[in-house]
Amino acid sequence: MEQEHFKILIVDDSLLNQEVLRRILAEPPAAGVAAPIQAPEPEPEHEPEPYGIITAKSGLEALEKVTQEKPDLILLDIVMPGMSGFDVLARLQESSEMRRIPVIIISGLDYEGDEEKGLLMGAVDYVAKPFKKSVVLARIKTNLKIVEQMHIIERLSMVDTLTNMPNRRSFDARMDAEWGRAIREKTPVSFLMIDIDKFKLFNDNYGHHQGDVALKTVAGAIQATLKRSSDMAARWGGEEFAVLLPNTPIEGALKIAEQIRANIEATLVPSIGEHPPLPITASLGATTIVPDSESSMEDFFEQADQALYTAKETGRNRVCSQIRQHPAAKG
Ligand code: GH3
Ligand code: MG
Ligand code: MG
Repeated sequence: MEQEHFKILIVDDSLLNQEVLRRILAEPPAAGVAAPIQAPEPEPEHEPEPYGIITAKSGLEALEKVTQEKPDLILLDIVMPGMSGFDVLARLQESSEMRRIPVIIISGLDYEGDEEKGLLMGAVDYVAKPFKKSVVLARIKTNLKIVEQMHIIERLSMVDTLTNMPNRRSFDARMDAEWGRAIREKTPVSFLMIDIDKFKLFNDNYGHHQGDVALKTVAGAIQATLKRSSDMAARWGGEEFAVLLPNTPIEGALKIAEQIRANIEATLVPSIGEHPPLPITASLGATTIVPDSESSMEDFFEQADQALYTAKETGRNRVCSQIRQHPAAKG
């Protein structure tokens, strides 16, 4: 797996202290050897920075940078004029998103009780000065390792492992966000429900492994059709897929639905047996809404489901749509 490029926020009112930490982070450490404590050497310019470094010299600036830059780790000084490191820590804990960012306290003064206080307030680690560079770096790396593992788990929980597409959970999260945005901005959201035709028969004829290859092929054909970065395709479950088209009226949704249908029909499923590559088709149900606070997302999905049912009933390998008139639009 490719090495993640982590962003680290250094919060210290002393520019000199910021620079010391920056230099520590820029150095690839000699394995197992503690670096001597001395004035930092100038860095060779061609070396790529192993971390993205962001700095803040006050508590307020730190909170701003956290919101703007979303760092993966925060190195936090405690004693700062105005807002202290503890105040910053308390503010970070108030937000469910910011609370997830690990904070290592780099305390200038080893005040009795500060370590306990910091850790109890949610910091993951505490380093008191004077510190050994290698120890600080090792602790930073340990915490970044945990961040990396968390990212892997988050990714796995959002992705369908067969098709590598976003899964239903991922789709729901995105749908919630787009639904809220569409209410605020009074824009249309379109939704496509896609179901492979006669897939039970396909599995019965060619086996489940070949069926899984077909699911991957269809997933690829759907994804290849979507061009806007805001569009999202997901595996809804079984042999069903969903497509979310934010800011798209029904005309646009029907155009994309038809492209998806044609793309699936034109793509043969690679054979894993003796037989030649296999044709496959799917049926699509499309719907659109400009939601308001009264709208039900469940009804919205139901509309697409009904449209899909019509597509199946009227011969499969086709797109049907169903839209409920907005009460205000009724004439
Ligand atoms: P229709 O055209 O009406 O949609 O017919 P269908 O056979 O596709 O519909 P039905 O819902 O009866 O069958 C769905 C089948 O999809 C059942 C199962 O064999 C297959 N299926 C669902 N999930 C998977 C999967 O993950 N892998 C494989 N290989 N097959 C799956
Ligand atoms: Mg089905
Ligand atoms: Mg089906």
